Amino acid sequence: MSQMRKDVFTGRWVITAETTTVRPSDFHFKKFARETTFCPFCETNEASTPPEVFAIRKPGSSPNRPGWSVRVVPNSNPRLRIEGELGRRAEEFHDLMNGVGAHEIIAETPRHDRSLHELEILEISDVIRAYVARMVDLEGDKRMRYVLIFKNHGEEAGAHTIGHSISQLMALPVTPGAVKTKLITARDYFALKERCIYCDVLQQELKGRKRLIAENEDFLAFAPFASRFPFEMAVFPKSHNSAFSRISAGQVESLAQILRDVLRRLDHTLGGPPYNLSLQDRPFLRPRAGYWNTIDEDFHWHLEILPQVVRITGFEWASGFFYNPVPPEIAARCLLP
Ligand SMILES: [Zn+2]
Ligand SMILES: [Zn+2]
Repeated sequence: MSQMRKDVFTGRWVITAETTTVRPSDFHFKKFARETTFCPFCETNEASTPPEVFAIRKPGSSPNRPGWSVRVVPNSNPRLRIEGELGRRAEEFHDLMNGVGAHEIIAETPRHDRSLHELEILEISDVIRAYVARMVDLEGDKRMRYVLIFKNHGEEAGAHTIGHSISQLMALPVTPGAVKTKLITARDYFALKERCIYCDVLQQELKGRKRLIAENEDFLAFAPFASRFPFEMAVFPKSHNSAFSRISAGQVESLAQILRDVLRRLDHTLGGPPYNLSLQDRPFLRPRAGYWNTIDEDFHWHLEILPQVVRITGFEWASGFFYNPVPPEIAARCLLP
């Protein structure tokens, strides 16, 4: 019989198929072909993007010139713009504000022919350092409440057909609803037990090891109990930390190591599937009326990696539930080296 599994972090239900005969090849994807047209994110094409807001560069190289390993530029076609006031207002019964925020592109490598999982650990560490640097900078903008960092890999996951390996960053004047649901669940759990719900789940996953995919000194990767998608993965720091930007220098390298490891396994097991990766972080702490003060203790940042190998259908849109044909216990086994 299939199972209705409830996600402990969001309250969302997932129908998990009952099967013991999953063949990863059923979910195999054709590797996406990179176009050879002009790419603004390649080294030497720096002049074709807006001026960089951050870069990790070789000593002696100058901004907006070659010589970088990671380069962050404003999106030339941003969904939200950095200029202006929020102008929160009501129109009839509706809440409205101006489309103020930041939308940046993080070019993860100067080379067009490398994906994130094909980079060296030190190169991925630079990508993580760029995330942290941008986040710390944008926290100073009092209009912003949240920085969302995400990545679309492969056209089916929303990547641009140019095919250069990039991440995206959006600074938002509101906390995204999906994160808010997690924050509220974590807050309520903490109010009841004075423990972090994520730390509790991590301990169980480490003990049971049924859904464990990878582990190093600082991080743990597993297939969540109520995975929405086949081969979904979550990566958590082992020691409690609510804010990604507080990651230590040593942890940056072990995050790069585990991230490369699990993305390579995904690539190997499913033949280069499209996926979405996102950082699930706490919002900026702004003193506001009614805002809770246990957020540092109750929330625990993490990464979500969602392979896009099945379609979202009317059932998912209508119910907010998901149907997952691959039980996470089996997905974890398929992903083991
Ligand atoms: Zn390129
Ligand atoms: Zn925790």
